[in-house]
Amino acid sequence: MPQPEHQRFDLAVVGLGAFGSAVAYHASALGLRVVGFDRHQPPHQQGSSHTETRVTRLAVGEGTHLVPFAKRSHAIWRAIEADHHQCLGTALSLFHLTGGLFIGRPDDSVDERWGNFVHDAAAVAAATQLPFEHLSAAECRQRFPQLLVSESEAIGYDPNGGLVMIEQAIAAQLALAQHRGAELHVNCPVRAVTPDGHGVLLDTENGTFSADQVVICAGAWSPAFADPDRLRITRQVVYWFEAQDLEEWRPDRIGFGIWAGRSIEDYLGLFAAPIGTTLGVKLLSEQFVDTTTATTVDRTVSDEETASFYERLVAPRLSGVTNHCLRAEVCLYTNTVDDGFLIDSHPESEAVTVVSACSGHGFKHSTAIGEALARRAAGLDHQNLDPFRRQNRPRWIDAG
Ligand SMILES: Cc1cc2nc3c(=O)[nH]c(=O)nc-3n(C[C@H](O)[C@H](O)[C@H](O)COP(=O)(O)OP(=O)(O)OC[C@H]3O[C@@H](n4cnc5c(N)ncnc54)[C@H](O)[C@@H]3O)c2cc1C
Repeated sequence: MPQPEHQRFDLAVVGLGAFGSAVAYHASALGLRVVGFDRHQPPHQQGSSHTETRVTRLAVGEGTHLVPFAKRSHAIWRAIEADHHQCLGTALSLFHLTGGLFIGRPDDSVDERWGNFVHDAAAVAAATQLPFEHLSAAECRQRFPQLLVSESEAIGYDPNGGLVMIEQAIAAQLALAQHRGAELHVNCPVRAVTPDGHGVLLDTENGTFSADQVVICAGAWSPAFADPDRLRITRQVVYWFEAQDLEEWRPDRIGFGIWAGRSIEDYLGLFAAPIGTTLGVKLLSEQFVDTTTATTVDRTVSDEETASFYERLVAPRLSGVTNHCLRAEVCLYTNTVDDGFLIDSHPESEAVTVVSACSGHGFKHSTAIGEALARRAAGLDHQNLDPFRRQNRPRWIDAG
């Protein structure tokens, strides 16, 4: 059956999760004609952008090049709250400025992912003139009696850290993009992206579309477009455990904790419970042993897995959290080999950009990166995206 003819768009966005919704939002605000596609209906629970909250921090131990994006994202979340209220009449609270803790080993006996994270975060804060506090174990126990820290641990505090409400942020950016004229197709997978000389053609479930440029933000599905052998998808589990006194875990008492031990799996992330979220303490660890795919991942969480997580990581570290698990969900990481980001264009067409593989720490930067990409697409000055280009350019498979 012949496909319907569609108008040519300035910018197409493939994947409307954290990054794609941001690109669509900012591009439509700049007046670009935007078309967006998602294989599901975002915000959804099949990718990397669900489970209510994400940590954001300005003392970004992963590198000073990320600080401008985290900072700018904080300002944009506030602007989106105001924009949403003004344009759509609903008040939102997307960003909770809470402060947050980093706890780790002060020596070299640390895992290679988090490294000496307290030291790295402090160094980035110092290099970028941001405040950062060092706490003794006694000071930490006094301020945060929920945490069973030991004298042998290094403890840092970022007063500019906080939590972002992720599903609400994605929904708000998509609603505002549509409000400004973006054409969004949900439950509509893009099957192929082909440079056509002037721009790109997109073969989708709803027909063929053409655009001057495309940004592919396919998250855990990125290996279908680029670098299948250099991207690793891993299954991560997020838990909510019952608190003896939930008030101790509200954002005004504690924001987040990033607690690294002596191995990659000896890691605990903890998140406060803002009003309107699941009524428990949100906790997670990380694993990089079992790789998977977005379509074949096991999304069930067994009782044994939950009990092992609690015994191994929660009971020794937290006070006032019971072993009653209220909820557990599987979420996906997409990692590059060096745990960095992948933002690069097709070797034969600058019209095609892939943005993803944000390696488990991307949400906090997503709206500022989306803004930079939208401004670049509009030919405007923008934050420098060169640090995210790959030295070994991505190997493209489907886009040309
Ligand atoms: C458990 C967990 C904890 C995390 N904690 C933090 C944290 O505290 N702080 C932080 O900054 N980051 C954190 N991250 C990382 C952060 O959440 C991710 O970097 C970010 O959400 C990734 O966004 P994305 O847009 O790449 O992917 P997604 O939001 O998953 O979006 C990809 C979208 O592409 C769509 N799609 C895929 N293929 C196609 C196709 N062919 N056609 C159309 N649509 C398609 C999918 O349906 C999906 O909606 C965490 C991640 C996880 C899993």
